Amino acid sequence: MIDSHAHLDFDDFDHDRTQLFADMKRQGISSAILPGVSSRHWSKQLTIAAQYDCYYALGIHPWFCPDNIETEVAALAQLIELNRKDNKLVAVGECGLDKRHKQRAFSTQVALLERQLQLAISHQLPVILHSVRAHNELLGLLKCYPNPKGGVIHGFYGGPELAKAYIALGYKLGVGGLIMDPKAKKLRETVAQLAPDSFLIETDSPNMTPINAVNSRNSPLNIPSFVAEIAFLQNKSTVSILEQLDENVAQLFEL
Ligand SMILES: [Zn+2]
Repeated sequence: MIDSHAHLDFDDFDHDRTQLFADMKRQGISSAILPGVSSRHWSKQLTIAAQYDCYYALGIHPWFCPDNIETEVAALAQLIELNRKDNKLVAVGECGLDKRHKQRAFSTQVALLERQLQLAISHQLPVILHSVRAHNELLGLLKCYPNPKGGVIHGFYGGPELAKAYIALGYKLGVGGLIMDPKAKKLRETVAQLAPDSFLIETDSPNMTPINAVNSRNSPLNIPSFVAEIAFLQNKSTVSILEQLDENVAQLFEL
């Protein structure tokens, strides 16, 4: 198993990261993809990825959208260029749009995302996308900038129709801890109805702590319970879902 989206480089894991990776290995969680969030975080992210042999993506999260995007985008382009031959660099992201986050004008978030979508296309990398209350705008941009490598809408929470719109454009849906919440009806309907090759499994650690989290926090150790829940909703065996999810992540990110 691979956690397709975990911020294991964040300070929250500084006190027990080595122990956590040992526990992950024992549970069959072999690795994780560490998404990039901002220029301030890249250096530590790359250090942790190298130290623990993790995959990573490079990008600027909309929560860290700078006032002037040009300097940050130039730094990102340079870093991707520098690391492009590293087979642990698997995507551009996480990038996207978040209407709940109002610190920057939405138009600046859009401009920042456009630049990252272009970078992904020119470097032939898939994208890891964050989208909160901005699905129409995101779908529009993904149509404007078609990426043959596709990508993932991480932390997906929508219903089957929205899911199908993304899948039609070649994107997968990242399913995380929200699946454990019986109140997440739309997402549970999506997971029950769509073909299992549409999904990736992720935790978004340390954010989005699920119901009944292992050690009361969000970490990749919660992945097995998410897989079991997807298998239950799909009415399939855990083993077959596990195999499919492994295949999905390997195919999208060319692992
Ligand atoms: Zn994230």
